[in-house]
Amino acid sequence: MISVDEHLAHILDEVAPLAPLELALLDAHSCLLAEDVVAAVSLPPFDNSAMDGYAVRSADLDPVRAGTAVTLPVVGDIPAGTASPLSVQPGLCVRIMTGAPLPTGADVVVPVEMTDGGIAKVRIDRAPDVGAYIRRLGEDVRAGDTVAVAGSHLGSARIGLIAAVGRTAVAVRPRPRVVVISTGSELVEAGAHIGPGQIADSNSYALTAAAREAGALAYRVGIVPDDPNRLLETLEDHLIRGDCIVTSGGVSVGAYDVVKEVLSRLGTVRFDRVAMQPGMPQGFGRIGADGVPIFALPGNPVSALVSFEVFVRPALRRMLGAEPISRPTVSAVATAPMRSGKGKRQYVRAVLSVQDDRYVVEPVGGSGSHLMGAMAAANGLVVIDEDDTDVAAGSPVTVMMLERRTQ
Ligand code: AMP
Ligand code: MG
Repeated sequence: MISVDEHLAHILDEVAPLAPLELALLDAHSCLLAEDVVAAVSLPPFDNSAMDGYAVRSADLDPVRAGTAVTLPVVGDIPAGTASPLSVQPGLCVRIMTGAPLPTGADVVVPVEMTDGGIAKVRIDRAPDVGAYIRRLGEDVRAGDTVAVAGSHLGSARIGLIAAVGRTAVAVRPRPRVVVISTGSELVEAGAHIGPGQIADSNSYALTAAAREAGALAYRVGIVPDDPNRLLETLEDHLIRGDCIVTSGGVSVGAYDVVKEVLSRLGTVRFDRVAMQPGMPQGFGRIGADGVPIFALPGNPVSALVSFEVFVRPALRRMLGAEPISRPTVSAVATAPMRSGKGKRQYVRAVLSVQDDRYVVEPVGGSGSHLMGAMAAANGLVVIDEDDTDVAAGSPVTVMMLERRTQ
């Protein structure tokens, strides 16, 4: 038996961030940059109006500042997109729209709300300070500035910024492609008729979704029966499309546990008993010419998902180059007692909530690894260390937050 920490350390030793790839900007969404992005242009690219209003010479507003409204002839319009705007002569003004280039001569924009909104002439009732409502060239970003450094996460705002400075493709750490395979001769496709002795394959759905939540591009292969040849064929077929393979089922000590049987023979995949509950039998190694990492997870749905959280998710995050690689944990007060087997790390499905400004956590369902109903109701896992066997109600516990959902 090895510890959770030993097994995870072994896995993390074997996986590394994927090689950078140039991707179209939207395909790079949520990935991590693998280059510094330098602005080719300044933002704003030219002086422009921040408001719909009138471009004016500030000196012409001195009477307003002294308490008397002024009326100025409006000599033209500058809509957004105008290439070479008119200039503003003393005693005159032009109507200007938000984002339109500032005409020469003007040094302030008077928002339409401070005027009577006139078209041929306009009465100005209030006088903004000189320079007001003008967005200056380069005040946001200067050409040559680094607007995003390698390693930064491409969220929506950065995607927008990179587009604004004129880039439509960037080098990123690509999303790992994960191939998800369920094994078991008792499995049928979800939605199909369930005959005697059969159950729907839920693991391939749950694990594909979990891989996507971790940032991967996951591909659900579906079901392979407990037949060594079929398993080998399926693995060979899909090796080419994966940066990582995740199987579930067939890793215990049963007579038809073919994943273990087939992969053990390759000599590159290790099967261990890991001191945890749920999820004790675990397989991990590399297969194929490219040494694609493969996780052989236990088949019980709760064991499979907990194993994913504890081992696969950190590995996928490492491949993405992302930090943190594990889910966040918080300390919470247990509302009920919990038990854990000596020497094993226990992951208890639980509902985490905030009461009176502190986290409280309530276990849901029993400890059976087939109890998907309870797993789906949980938004966290209480982690009980190897040395602890009994947790009393009211004591603080560590909770791994699975999702930030509140219902
Ligand atoms: P195994 O790890 O193959 O011994 O499977 C352990 C338990 O998990 C058995 O009750 C299986 O029927 C169940 N199981 C295995 N694979 C799946 C799956 N893909 N979806 C739902 N249950 C599964
Ligand atoms: Mg099985």
